[in-house]
Amino acid sequence: MAKEAVAKGADVLLQAARDKFVATYNRGATAAGAAPGRVNFIGDHVDYCEGYVLPLALPFLTVVVGGPNSSSTCNVLSILASGQELKASFPAPSSAPLTPGEPAWANYVKGVVANFPGVVTGFDAVVVSDVPMGAGLSSSASIEVATFTFLEALTGTKVDPVQKARLCQKAEHEFPGMPCGIMDQYIATMARRHHALLIDCRSLESRQIPVDLGDAVILVTNSNVKHQLTGSEYPQRRAQCQEAADRLGLTSLRGAKLTDLEELRNQKCDKLVVMRAEHVIREIQRTEEVALLLPQKDLHKVGKLLYESHESSSHLMEISCPELDQLVDILRGAPGVYGARMTGGGFGGCVVALVKKDEVENLKRRILAQYKGNPTFFVCQPSDGARVLQV
Ligand code: ADP
Ligand code: MG
Repeated sequence: MAKEAVAKGADVLLQAARDKFVATYNRGATAAGAAPGRVNFIGDHVDYCEGYVLPLALPFLTVVVGGPNSSSTCNVLSILASGQELKASFPAPSSAPLTPGEPAWANYVKGVVANFPGVVTGFDAVVVSDVPMGAGLSSSASIEVATFTFLEALTGTKVDPVQKARLCQKAEHEFPGMPCGIMDQYIATMARRHHALLIDCRSLESRQIPVDLGDAVILVTNSNVKHQLTGSEYPQRRAQCQEAADRLGLTSLRGAKLTDLEELRNQKCDKLVVMRAEHVIREIQRTEEVALLLPQKDLHKVGKLLYESHESSSHLMEISCPELDQLVDILRGAPGVYGARMTGGGFGGCVVALVKKDEVENLKRRILAQYKGNPTFFVCQPSDGARVLQV
């Protein structure tokens, strides 16, 4: 029962990608890049309110290897964890303008190729990744930033990290058509081992936050559920937050204070709007607080804020679900847990917890015995971001 996904590491993934490249294209790869998946430690549903988010990179990586093929076509082969092979070909941007199309997965690669600031001629590439797809751990930013890094190595064009992250975000907007924020591409690009990245979603500035977990690790539990709701939950939350900001005469809730909640109530504004505003105002505060507490190694206080964040996500923002609530409840009752919360957009996906290393096995057993669903575990320390790999 492979309930825990163990990161393979850059060397193993690189070797697999290089071997596949030789087997497929009958020559050796000449360039390689890698980028990680991520988990948002705290600060959810605040990015669109110009708040703070605090993601950290996981040890899970996407590796892209390849080399020029002296043609005007780009050929990409992606080997999935299941062993399934995905293939796509598209024109090199130096020969024809790129447009989104089928297969859908290739848009993540194509969008990056189209937005790369250097001259890209035809190439062959192989993608190998152990970032779980669609689990809320940002396999999408991981493949985008890994592709960009590979192109930097291939063309010799080095791009400033902030611009690199923004171009990858633009790629996701334009090609797969996902209107994502900047968090995923920032952390995939700029992550540093033993650090989290505090991103100010108003100024788009970011700061490395030292994370020394001592006897603790981060336990990510994938609930393996994704509730298909009406699809309007996300735009609805956004609209409610904007309504609160408008009523307060602010551009976003970033500038709001707790005392403003009274003002909203006085205006007889919809109760749900006040609840959303309360989540956002307090979540921004909690995120700033955690960024201060982590370097002080005050894991008990950090943990308390994680639990508070979960309660707020569940009861004020109403973005949790029974499975995520159950996972947090199981962890709350267990020894060796500092704190836990749902992470990401909500209605499924993962729970992130700060736990004592020695208790990890007991915690996994406890969750397997009590959780109604079928969980997967990831045990990790904050890891490095994108890098060029030597082939
Ligand atoms: P998440 O980013 O949380 O994993 P998304 O829905 O944003 O989920 O992105 C997942 C999609 O990204 C996949 O459905 C696939 O189209 C694409 N993708 C990510 N990683 C890979 C990969 N290694 N190979 C091919 N496609 C990938
Ligand atoms: Mg994604």
